[in-house]
Amino acid sequence: MKTDILIVGAGPTGMALSIGLLQAGIDHLLIDRLEQGQHTSRAGVIHAQTLESLDPLGVSAELVARGLTLEKFTVRDRDRALVELDFGRLPSPHRYLLMLPQNITEEVLAQRIASLGGVIHRGLTATKVEQDARGARVTVTGPDGEQTIQARYVVGADGMHSIVRQAAGIEFDGGTYEASFVLADVRLDWPFGQSEVSLFFSPEGLVVVAPLPDGSFRIVATYDNAPEQVTVAQVQALIAARGPGGGTVREVIWSSRFRVHHRLAKAYRNGRLVLMGDAAHVHSPAGGQGMNTGLVDAVVLGRVLAGVVKEGQPESFLDRYEALRRPAAAQVLKLADRLTGLATTRGGLARFIRNAALGFVNLNPFARRRLQMNLSGLSRAPLAQLPEDHKLAA
Ligand SMILES: Cc1cc2nc3c(=O)[nH]c(=O)nc-3n(C[C@H](O)[C@H](O)[C@H](O)COP(=O)(O)OP(=O)(O)OC[C@H]3O[C@@H](n4cnc5c(N)ncnc54)[C@H](O)[C@@H]3O)c2cc1C
Repeated sequence: MKTDILIVGAGPTGMALSIGLLQAGIDHLLIDRLEQGQHTSRAGVIHAQTLESLDPLGVSAELVARGLTLEKFTVRDRDRALVELDFGRLPSPHRYLLMLPQNITEEVLAQRIASLGGVIHRGLTATKVEQDARGARVTVTGPDGEQTIQARYVVGADGMHSIVRQAAGIEFDGGTYEASFVLADVRLDWPFGQSEVSLFFSPEGLVVVAPLPDGSFRIVATYDNAPEQVTVAQVQALIAARGPGGGTVREVIWSSRFRVHHRLAKAYRNGRLVLMGDAAHVHSPAGGQGMNTGLVDAVVLGRVLAGVVKEGQPESFLDRYEALRRPAAAQVLKLADRLTGLATTRGGLARFIRNAALGFVNLNPFARRRLQMNLSGLSRAPLAQLPEDHKLAA
């Protein structure tokens, strides 16, 4: 089997790239080892700059229609607001945080692929990836046994343990945070209702409480020796110890535990093998940036690949992708790392200094705006733009 571009992995980033390539009329194959898309909620927020980047793919309106838009993001120490951000003043057509569980984001992307006549080839696992001057070869195993796919370029959208990254011999520098996290979608009677995303700093650890479109709430918290599934009583205890006071947990709909890594690929390309999304960068969920950064990677990479495959740009044009997107990921890693460090500060004096510094941010409109621009991704918008007009047709 031969194709111009093989995308390994149909998570959100692989699907977004496929949409861009379908729009540009570029021959490609999108494969995933899973028989079905994942049904778990994971990434719960889509930021303004991600929506702006996704607009040309024709999915943003549907994402917004299915999500919950919130303008307020508040950093709190128990019931005390330390920083209050108003996303309603963002310089963007999307002046909000869009709350949407990842499985619905993936559903919208999959529907768009189908509407453009594309296919996700499921149940196919890439087991070996090789390249030489003429192209790349990927061995794929599936229900019909083993086959080889030849491609001009192979994109690793295959997540943190990327086989494409390993085959490319690209180092994934970084480490793992000591803290483990729990994530739970719950039914909750909550003093702030559905009005804001709250990030609580507390000596016991961080907790985020974010409303979701179906009226439930997403809880993300650091948790020592996190259990495989949290109970209502455990989430209640978390909120009681770290939240503003008040709040009754009614039901845990879904939960998961995870360790958080902070790693950045040393390069985004080696020859014909290119990386994006979690295959290229992973970091703390503080700030909800993981999937967002990957989706913007996919949009930029789609334009760059269209330049090389369709418009006669030299292969070196691919380097524009890394030049734009690796610095963006480095900035996101720094932001998520700072937020995680601030949130988990222990010790009375350290917390006093932190709260005073955040009080300064809250009083200073320039500092507040800077944080807002960082969280929404708008400060990184220049790192999503090619100087030439390589926008795909809508
Ligand atoms: C519990 C949890 C909570 C999270 N919370 C947040 C959050 O709040 N905010 C946020 O922004 N992000 C969050 N994330 C991270 C977010 O889910 C990822 O950043 C996002 O899914 C990355 O998308 P991706 O397409 O790069 O990779 P993935 O979603 O990992 O997709 C990779 C795909 O590749 C496929 N694949 C892998 N290897 C192969 C192979 N050899 N052959 C074929 N297919 C293969 C996999 O089956 C998978 O479908 C969370 C993640 C987890 C697990």
